[in-house]
Order: sequence, then C-alpha cells, then structure tokens
Amino acid sequence: MIKIDHIQIASDHLIGGRYVPSDSTIDVFSPIDETVTGAVPDGDDAIVDEAIRAAREAFNDWAKAGPAGRHKSLLKFAALIRENADDLALVECVDNGGLLKALRARVIERSAQNIEFFANLALELLGEVIAGGPNVDNVRYEPAGVCALITPWNAPLMLTTWKIGPALAAGNTIVIKPPELAPASCALLGQLAAQAGLPDGVVNIVHGRGAKSGQALIEHPGVDRISFTGSPETGRIIATAAAAHLTPVSLELGGKSPLVVFRNADLDKAAATIAHQYFNAGQVCLAGTRVLADAATAEDLLARTLNHVERLIVGDPRLPDTDIGPLISREQAARVDGFVRRAVEAGAVAVAGGAPSDAGPLYYEPTLIRDVRQDSEIVQNEVFGPVLTWQTFVNEDEAVALANDTKYGLAASLWTNDSDQAHRVGSEIRAGTVWVNSFFVRNLAAPFGGFGESGVGIEGGRWSFDFYCNVKNLSVNK
Ligand code: ADP
Repeated sequence: MIKIDHIQIASDHLIGGRYVPSDSTIDVFSPIDETVTGAVPDGDDAIVDEAIRAAREAFNDWAKAGPAGRHKSLLKFAALIRENADDLALVECVDNGGLLKALRARVIERSAQNIEFFANLALELLGEVIAGGPNVDNVRYEPAGVCALITPWNAPLMLTTWKIGPALAAGNTIVIKPPELAPASCALLGQLAAQAGLPDGVVNIVHGRGAKSGQALIEHPGVDRISFTGSPETGRIIATAAAAHLTPVSLELGGKSPLVVFRNADLDKAAATIAHQYFNAGQVCLAGTRVLADAATAEDLLARTLNHVERLIVGDPRLPDTDIGPLISREQAARVDGFVRRAVEAGAVAVAGGAPSDAGPLYYEPTLIRDVRQDSEIVQNEVFGPVLTWQTFVNEDEAVALANDTKYGLAASLWTNDSDQAHRVGSEIRAGTVWVNSFFVRNLAAPFGGFGESGVGIEGGRWSFDFYCNVKNLSVNK
C-alpha cells in the first residue's frame, strides 16, 4: 500500500485482476522530503511468469474485440484519468518530485489523450486494402500479443500512457514494470483501468527492481514486444536479452539535445526557452541541455537568459511558485554535483548555480556552465539534472558540427527567423525531432524516436501501430 495525502493506492502486483504480494518489498520514498509513502513488492521470476500467463489468457478475447470493441473501455479509461486528475497529479508530484502545477495544467490531460488518441486512431488505421496489383493485398494490423512496457521515474504517467495507449488500442495485452523509484502513479493507473472495465488480465503490473523483475520480464519467452524508456545502459541490457528470443524492441534512451540560437533569432523567446530546460529539475531526456549561441549575439543572449535563470525558484514542487523541484534521489544529486565539480575543476565557469541548493539534500541550483570543452564529459554525457552548458559558434558549419558531435540524437531546437536557414540546418542535424523556434511541441500523430544512442525504433501515430502489431499481407487472387 502507498499512502499519499488522503489517497490510498493498492500497490501489490496486479495480475489477472487480482492483487498479489511478494515476500520482499521495496520502500517507496518521496524525493520532496525523503519520507516513506509506502512499499511495493519486489517481484521475481515466478511473479513475472504468472503475469505473462494472465496476459496471454486475456489476449484472445481482447484481440478479437477489434478496435471498435476496445474503443468504449479505452475512452472510459481516459475519462477516468481526467476525473481523477487531482489525485493523479498529487500522487506523481509526491512520488517523483514533478511540479504539481505542471502536472495539473498539462501532464494529466496529456496522459488521458495518450489513451484516447490511439483508441480513435485504431478505428481508422488498423487495416488497409491495396487493390492496384495482380492480387488484392489486404494489409492487416494484427496485435502482436503480450507486450512488456518498462518505464522510468522521470515522467511515469506520461510515458506509461504513451505506451499503454497504442499497445491496448492495437489489441495487445500488457505487463507493465513501473520504475521502483516512482511506482505510485502507475499503480493508481492500474486501479483506474479496472474501474474502466478493461477485462482482467489485459493490464498487468509487476513491481520490483529493474535487475530482478525487469530482467525476468525481458528474458521471458512469452513476451512478444518490449517497449522501454530509460537509460542507454539499461537499453543495451534489454536489447541483449531480447536478442535471445528475437523479440522486437523499441528503445527510447537518453539525449543531449542542442539548442542552437542564430544571431537573427528572437533572443527573448530563445532565452525564455533556454530557462525552461530546467523543467523537472532537468530530468527530461529531451531537454535542450547544450546551448549553442551565435558568437555575434552570445553575450546579449546570455544576459537575457541569466535574467530568467536567476529568478527560478527551487523548492517544494507542491507550491505554486516553485519552478524546480527535487532530484529523484541522493545518488542522483551526488551524480549531478560530480559532473559540475569536475567541469569546474577542469576550467569551466558556472555563470549560474553550480552547487546544491539550500532547499534540501536532493535539490540543486539551476546551473549554467560556460568555457566547456566539446570533448568533456559534461558536454558529451547526459547529466539528468538542472545543468546546461553554454558554447558559441561563428558560422552554420560550426553550429552543425557542435550540435552533431555527441553519441545521442534525440532532439534539437533551432532558433532563427530565416526559414531557408531553418531548413538548411534542420536537414543537417542528426536528431529524431528538430524543432524550429519552439521546443517540446509533441503532436501525437507525428513520429518520435532517437538516432544513435538515443534509441531504436519510432513510435507515435501510425508508427506506434507498426511496432505494436504484426503487419500481415493477406494477398488474394482477383
Ligand atoms: P533510470 O536511470 O532512469 O532509472 P533505468 O534505465 O535504470 O533508468 O530504469 C528505467 C526502467 O528500467 C526502470 O523501471 C527500471 O526498473 C528498469 N530496469 C532497470 N534495469 C533493468 C533490467 N536489467 N531489465 C529490465 N528493466 C530494467
């Protein structure tokens, strides 16, 4: 059981509609003040096996119901997410330290849309006839089977629903492995799925440590798809395990996105957007953590940026004035501080922040570091904290070279008022999404994925169904 404020959440494994405990449990902490909110069971091979059996048993009926048969209960699920928005927002805020005001304003609504959008799209998309060839090709999108969905702690509600929506709409049944550091909102989603009338066994949840229940899940031969969002290190472990059974995987991994500001850009908007990269205490894979500023306007942009950054308030994420909440754990706080200290020791200069915040041991000041070397770890590796680097360029070629010089390729943001330049540079940037004069605008119908070590596979819109379905051609003689 997890208890957050007045909200009690059943947090045992959810298997075939029943709550099942394990002998050992893991305490769940709030990063806000490190208080224990409850515990989740630490699942093992046997629990995972049980969950996959339950998902397999539920599969035939759910798959046969077709998109229309699944539509009603999925829309009810989305409606329940909206109806329980206040509880979901508070639970996620206390569980992972996300800002309550942002959860209320955007994240819960988006989580509902993740379910609704794919339930609607399935009605249009799951099937197609190609009549022009020698045979009539009936393209069928058949559900893949049992999907393992593994999610991280930085945005559990958003990322879990982003996977649940298309997986269920396409007719699969699922086993979710929530993050052990922030499992509460997913446990609450499980309750809402049952309330929405999704049949027992369609949504199963196995809690526990990644290396134990997570590992058991990815190694299980009964899993037909694995969708994972998390670190590249774990992504590699997952791809390796998936190889044993040739299970298709979708991996959304880290990022080190460049935010490139040309001299002709709207510097005020660019500066505000740079300051927004501290959102979620920088624990966002998409975050534009590398500012690349045109040397001609760099000092002007820096002054405008610092004007925003200096006003950011670090503190309790439940309070309306707070801009930056806590990091997820002491370990993460120490990791972030280590990156900053080593950079400064190597000669970089923190023009903002550069140290833990006095708000508490898990809080860190919004930090902006200049005079960094391109090959330094703070430029090359994901920090996953409120830390941005600042570099300058003298021309487009240099901007592109710096932007592309990491192993990642998740996203980029270009700021320019010259549309030719936007297209020219945008086509040179190696990233799954390149935003122009904007950031974090995510249309659910658009493809989303990373290049390089940022991931494998594309999801979003119909691309999600390409992953969560077996695409079959039933080719019939005319
Ligand atoms: P983070 O550093 O963001 O926690 P991870 O990639 O370690 O990133 O964790 C993301 C998710 O992957 C979590 O739910 C975690 O439990 C799970 N996980 C970690 N290790 C494994 C593993 N070996 N097999 C399967 N899942 C894992």
